[in-house]
Amino acid sequence: MNIHMENRPYIFISPSKYVQGAGAIFELGAHLRPLGVNALVIGGKNGLEVTREGRARSFAERGVRQTEAPFGGESSDSEIDRLTGLLRAAACDIVVGCGGGKAIDSAKAVAAAADLPVAIVPTVASNDSPCSALSVIYGDDGSFAGIRTFKRNPDLVLVDTAIIARSPVRQLVSGMGDALATWYEADACLRSGALNVSGGAVTLAAAALAALCRDTLFKNGPDAVAACRGNIVTPALERVVEANTLLSGLGFESAGVALAHALSEAFSSMPCMHGYTHGEKVAFGLLVQLTLENAPDGELGRVYGFCREVGLPTTLGELGAAGADADSLWTVAEIAAEPGRPSDNLPFPVTADSILRAIIEADATGRKSGDVHNDRS
Ligand SMILES: [Zn+2]
Repeated sequence: MNIHMENRPYIFISPSKYVQGAGAIFELGAHLRPLGVNALVIGGKNGLEVTREGRARSFAERGVRQTEAPFGGESSDSEIDRLTGLLRAAACDIVVGCGGGKAIDSAKAVAAAADLPVAIVPTVASNDSPCSALSVIYGDDGSFAGIRTFKRNPDLVLVDTAIIARSPVRQLVSGMGDALATWYEADACLRSGALNVSGGAVTLAAAALAALCRDTLFKNGPDAVAACRGNIVTPALERVVEANTLLSGLGFESAGVALAHALSEAFSSMPCMHGYTHGEKVAFGLLVQLTLENAPDGELGRVYGFCREVGLPTTLGELGAAGADADSLWTVAEIAAEPGRPSDNLPFPVTADSILRAIIEADATGRKSGDVHNDRS
């Protein structure tokens, strides 16, 4: 079991500054200037490209110099060492990470290695990593190697919603899957008394932000998807980007995760799911968690309905695992139930057996509700 302790202090952590809006990239220089004057900008091809004009203009205005460091593709130790070498060679005093999960995670690790400030500029709203003080580290072959935590959160997170509006809809929807689980996982942690990522008890602030995250998605999710499809920034898109990036990030880090995230880790043992995103796996993991928790029918139906409406998976088939054999599902359940996994944070003991039964039941419910949905259309 994770450590559940009486009388632990309440701990809440967050980035120092969060900036979000259409065209915000043109203000990056102004927000960066107090932190450093010579930036190493780490990003993939797309992450560098969509931020280039905003960086060039706003850095020139504020006298910030920059060196672009194209990201090699894996947030691995060797890539982090290589980028740290570039940082030292160019004598940079701040790191900027532009892009999706892995480029951002590498930028945080490079900044921590050199003990420098870091600014994160997400160019997709696909996950809850940007605001957090942790990175997922992979091997050079892309296999999961572990989670690294840092002594501080990013000094700046800046999201340009005009860039997000032009990013793939599937990425936004994936971020909604990751964000949707935030409240239900936080709620499990609150009920079990589990400690959060910083080893503290859960503050009222973190619990309130996690609940707001869920409510914001229910209210604005489908409209935000439509906005992203049309490449336009609307109030609904702004709200959902905030839910995916800020609320979900603060919620998971200062409240905690549970079975939905344990399953998203465990699903990586199934090669047929490799083409699916973190948020898509978390979304189905959430349906399994709610099934296992015996959530009230109304709440369960609401979550299934939302997933269906925005295009998140509600069945194993929609995660590429339609004909998954019993052995591979058993392996998933066993991994998710391992001691030390976030499934420990549920307020009751879980076993591989109870998780497997919940996976099968959640999938059956998804297929049933899909049939009803198809009958109607
Ligand atoms: Zn997540």
